[in-house]
Amino acid sequence: MKALFYVLGTSAATPKPKRALPSYYFEHEGIGILMDCGEGTQFQVMKAGIGFSKIKVIAISHNHGDHLLGLPGLIETMSMGSRKEDLLIIGPPGIKEFLEVSFKVTTFAPSFKVYVLEITEEVEVPLRGIKLKMFPVKHHGYSFGIRVETVPKRKVNKEKLEELGVPKRLWGRLQQGEEVEWKGRVLKPEEFTWQPQGIKVVYSGDTAPCERVIEEARGADLLVHEATFLSDMEEEAHERGHSTAKDAGIIASEAKVKMLLLTHYSSRYEDLRRHLDEARRFFEYAYLAQDLMKVVIKK
Ligand SMILES: [Zn+2]
Ligand SMILES: [Zn+2]
Repeated sequence: MKALFYVLGTSAATPKPKRALPSYYFEHEGIGILMDCGEGTQFQVMKAGIGFSKIKVIAISHNHGDHLLGLPGLIETMSMGSRKEDLLIIGPPGIKEFLEVSFKVTTFAPSFKVYVLEITEEVEVPLRGIKLKMFPVKHHGYSFGIRVETVPKRKVNKEKLEELGVPKRLWGRLQQGEEVEWKGRVLKPEEFTWQPQGIKVVYSGDTAPCERVIEEARGADLLVHEATFLSDMEEEAHERGHSTAKDAGIIASEAKVKMLLLTHYSSRYEDLRRHLDEARRFFEYAYLAQDLMKVVIKK
């Protein structure tokens, strides 16, 4: 099992020459999910070598410009490429209106259907082989963290089935969750199959330290957590609905994730070494997210 994760932009609020605005991309078995779409995301998608057609869903954590303003341009580019496949956008209320106005003013109509699912509370969206969940965090208005988890096929307990002498032709049905009658006995799928763990990635969105992120990220393969400030600005960070690198380290350690990527750096910081030092004091496997970084997760 394998999934890809790309960091497309790591800057908070305003871009820097080497830091684009927030956007991340997760891909598993041909299904791509773009998380946030700051202005200029389409360039980053190109630079990363991601095919636009792979993007099936765009999840927007919240409606601040640095996470949203790239949408109209990206959709227009997808359209120029004569995309026909539907696109699903999930995010807080207002996105539909924002797109409608953008398209109206620029007299543009996409070449494909754009569905916008506006949410005000947590939601779980099943995709092919992936569960996408958006859950509330502590930032501004409706703000969400994003959790993606692959859903592997159930595995059969071969020894148990062989021991009973159940013929192989019936195994597949059990694996698909069906009950099977055999020799007058009803075999239940939960008795003979088990669900292997998927690959789990959680993105905090913008947020002050949040219990819910810890809960959702528990045991995750990768936590991408905002670290807008350093801890000497802790009070201001929390007041503005943001976290420090120290907060991110503590959260990763409490959630017992396998790897932490810090991101969403305030443009006041050129050198990010202190971010890394701060987080690593609490969590050893912390790294600095950088634009166009690619993480391959295998399980
Ligand atoms: Zn932001
Ligand atoms: Zn924000």
